[in-house]
Amino acid sequence: MLQFTTVGQDYPEKRASGERASDFGEIARSFAVAKAEEQSSRCSQCGVPYCSTHCPLHNHIPDWLRLTAEGRLREAYELSNATSTMPEICGRICPQDRLCEGNCVIEFSGHGAVTIGSVEKFITDTAWEEGWVEPLTPGPARGQSIGVIGAGPAGLTVADLMRSHGYDVHVYDRHDRMGGLLVYGIPGFKLEKHVVQRRVDRLAAGGVVFHHGFEVGRDATLAELRTRHDAVVICTGVYKPRAIKAPGVGAAGVVEALDYLTASNRKGFGDAVPAYDDGTLNATGKHVVVVGGGDTAMDCVRTAVRQGAASVRCLYRRDRANMPGSQREVKNAEEEGVEFVWLAAPEAFHDSAGAVAGVQVTKMRLGEADASGRRAPEVDPAGGYRLDADLVVKALGFDPEELPRLFGAPALTVTRWGTVRIDHKSMMTSMDGVFAAGDIVRGASLVVWAVRDGRDVSERIHGWLKAKAKTAQREAA
Ligand code: FAD
Ligand code: SF4
Ligand code: SF4
Repeated sequence: MLQFTTVGQDYPEKRASGERASDFGEIARSFAVAKAEEQSSRCSQCGVPYCSTHCPLHNHIPDWLRLTAEGRLREAYELSNATSTMPEICGRICPQDRLCEGNCVIEFSGHGAVTIGSVEKFITDTAWEEGWVEPLTPGPARGQSIGVIGAGPAGLTVADLMRSHGYDVHVYDRHDRMGGLLVYGIPGFKLEKHVVQRRVDRLAAGGVVFHHGFEVGRDATLAELRTRHDAVVICTGVYKPRAIKAPGVGAAGVVEALDYLTASNRKGFGDAVPAYDDGTLNATGKHVVVVGGGDTAMDCVRTAVRQGAASVRCLYRRDRANMPGSQREVKNAEEEGVEFVWLAAPEAFHDSAGAVAGVQVTKMRLGEADASGRRAPEVDPAGGYRLDADLVVKALGFDPEELPRLFGAPALTVTRWGTVRIDHKSMMTSMDGVFAAGDIVRGASLVVWAVRDGRDVSERIHGWLKAKAKTAQREAA
């Protein structure tokens, strides 16, 4: 260990931008064993590891780095697996520069952080290859059941942990495939779909019952679902796209980011996608403008490149330093040919015979810091200009859907932002026995936080159900 003074920081090699921009495979190759051991050996084994403190799962990072450096990979896997239900997924898509790696002391000392995420991915990918990932073995049957609404990372984590405790677990999702945004939002070049599918398959083989195409609100009310299960947990994520208010926004060719990404992901699965085939949600040969500066916008621009767009521009109202998306993703996008137009916002959309033909852009500048501490963008009187575009993708982020109405559950209390209100100790909503976790509680966030919330809510539900079973036993005696 402590090799950071002699061994330089090294990430797994990225495929050349020209090569990777023509397919949807992940862009980075994997570490070879020797490289993973070498990179792990750079860790200085801090007594107070800031990397772990800033990992939402508080993963035992220095311990599994040491085991990896010593060639004890199976033990490293077991330790990594103890705190996370999907370490190889977080290792791929966490914004490590803002979490574990961004807080590694070696980074502060100028040597470059330990490449924690890449090692984490390597450990569990190896475990899958070597057959070390154990099947899900349910504990002794408890005779109690849980209904999980939503099969994203939060819902899958609950399913995994609660099934291990011996509960009957039913997961309801409105989609035909399980995984939530891991499947239909995040593109394959960040997270290949087989990586998610093997996790889902493991849960199904362990007895988790998946109800595909089951939309709560349409196929059952929340109250009906509650009568079927001893506890219900809402993990439905946030899906209402934020709107742009500008003249011409209704023109054909101005589309929602998630519709666009879902169509692309479905195409990757080989599904029939008429809106892709007829060109509505397909960037091939088009001049594309994506509006937004978060993860979703980054995924859209890079998807458009892979679909063979004639040009791809990303319009963002703040500057590079103040964008919410990961800097790593901006770099990847630039390497692949995306042009970023900073300090720019759409003022209007030009159309030709009802189809979008261009974006009228207003120049912006940064004013005073707002309540969040970020400098608020304001219109720069310097003026604007037109960008030609025949596909515009709106990627301004997501808000919660109106769950009490959709679920036929007026008793379900939400915050003024529409997120489900929970008691932060018990993680229970305003309805008895109904819990909630993930983006629907936090607002749009990260996969690793959804996993953490799934872990926390599982612990709370387990405690609540055990108490309930004890009371029932006492009353029966
Ligand atoms: P979701 O993953 O949204 O899953 C919710 C599930 O609930 C869905 O499957 C949905 O179909 C289902 N559902 C909703 N309503 C109902 C209903 N009424 N009945 C039945 N089922 C229902 N995070 C990162 O950490 N790294 C990234 O690189 C990253 N990239 C992203 C890219 C995009 C395009 C987007 C949109 C988000 C990205 N995120 C990223 C954020 C991350 O995906 C989310 O924070 C995370 O998936 C939230 O997990 P969740 O389980 O709460 O919800
Ligand atoms: Fe880092 Fe994310 Fe892994 Fe935590 S889960 S160690 S933040 S990559
Ligand atoms: Fe190792 Fe960096 Fe974590 Fe310290 S902060 S334990 S050096 S990975």
